[in-house]
Amino acid sequence: KFNTNFGQHILKNPGVSDAIVEKAFLKPTDTVLEVGPGTGNLTVRILERAKKCICVELDPRMAAEVTKRVQGKPEQRKLEVLLGDVIKTELPAFDVCISNTPYQISSPLVFKLLSLPNPPRCSVLMFQREFALRLTARPGDALYCRLSVNAQFWAKITHIMKVGKNNFRPPPQVESSVVRIEPKMGKDRPNVSWDEWDGLLRVCFVRKNKTLRASWLGTKEVLAMVERNYRTWCAMNGVPIDESIVEGGADDEDDNDMDMDEGANDAEDAGMDVDDDADEDTPSFFKDLKSAGANAPKTKSKRKKTKVAELVREKIRKVLEDVTELADKRAGKCDENDFLRLLFAFNEEGIHFS
Ligand code: SAM
Repeated sequence: KFNTNFGQHILKNPGVSDAIVEKAFLKPTDTVLEVGPGTGNLTVRILERAKKCICVELDPRMAAEVTKRVQGKPEQRKLEVLLGDVIKTELPAFDVCISNTPYQISSPLVFKLLSLPNPPRCSVLMFQREFALRLTARPGDALYCRLSVNAQFWAKITHIMKVGKNNFRPPPQVESSVVRIEPKMGKDRPNVSWDEWDGLLRVCFVRKNKTLRASWLGTKEVLAMVERNYRTWCAMNGVPIDESIVEGGADDEDDNDMDMDEGANDAEDAGMDVDDDADEDTPSFFKDLKSAGANAPKTKSKRKKTKVAELVREKIRKVLEDVTELADKRAGKCDENDFLRLLFAFNEEGIHFS
């Protein structure tokens, strides 16, 4: 009956359903977004406590089930069901998000919730245990990744409870956890552009166990991207660009590529995609970057280097070595403050990521 391709694992323990809704601290005036209502086990509890519940459900059979469940009851008028993929749906305004999340959309859902112009007051979401641990991982932890930095930069993340697989029908293969995400609001919300911040992190985390020097200066695609963005910035700011060829300057970026990766993650070296940050939200440049960082063959190119390419390279070197002194540090060990210092230093040099 349930389609596990849609991540359909229905909560069968009423105690867990109660606890999830309780931990959202709903107010009677709240509009709640529920992602994937399924048969409505959470929905009926939300409807008891909130002004309105907007459900987004991908499976028309499930949308029909939840609608039927409240038919003829007073709660019926408080329920709105939108049929579709929540990631592709333009969301109406809501105060709180609650979801027993279909695990395949965990990452894009978190990114979507955090990047909304008016983020919800809080989200209480069930995730696969490892994903929950990634959300709360600290610098140096094995699971620390771009998702950890982004989530903790924009929100306060609390692990609320562990949920064993036998609380679901059918049971999933892995254990789960419920997490609360409270976006930083008002004066606590970082005054940084989402795209700039995420753009910087994408490069730093191309391979999180490499030094930042290797990630930034040892990958052609990164240098090409920075140069493109720098050219755009120059054009917008009336700064002339020196296109002349550097005498004897062959393009040798990959020469120092990844020599300094003792302690690199085995799975990453085996070319496995250990970055769980979903590809759905990844611009194609970064997809290329990811595969370049992970398993592109290293060939020496003899392309002539222009003065502007050399200037960009020198700017990156200056930011990493002189200004921030982070060149030898690995992204997996950097904290929020390190990434912020990097972003400001790059911006200061006219280098932007959006
Ligand atoms: N809320 C119910 C419960 O806790 O018993 C069902 C949760 S079940 C883990 C996930 C639900 O999300 C399923 O009903 C599935 O059809 C739906 N779903 C899967 N992918 C979705 C997507 N991209 N957008 C919206 N709903 C989705």
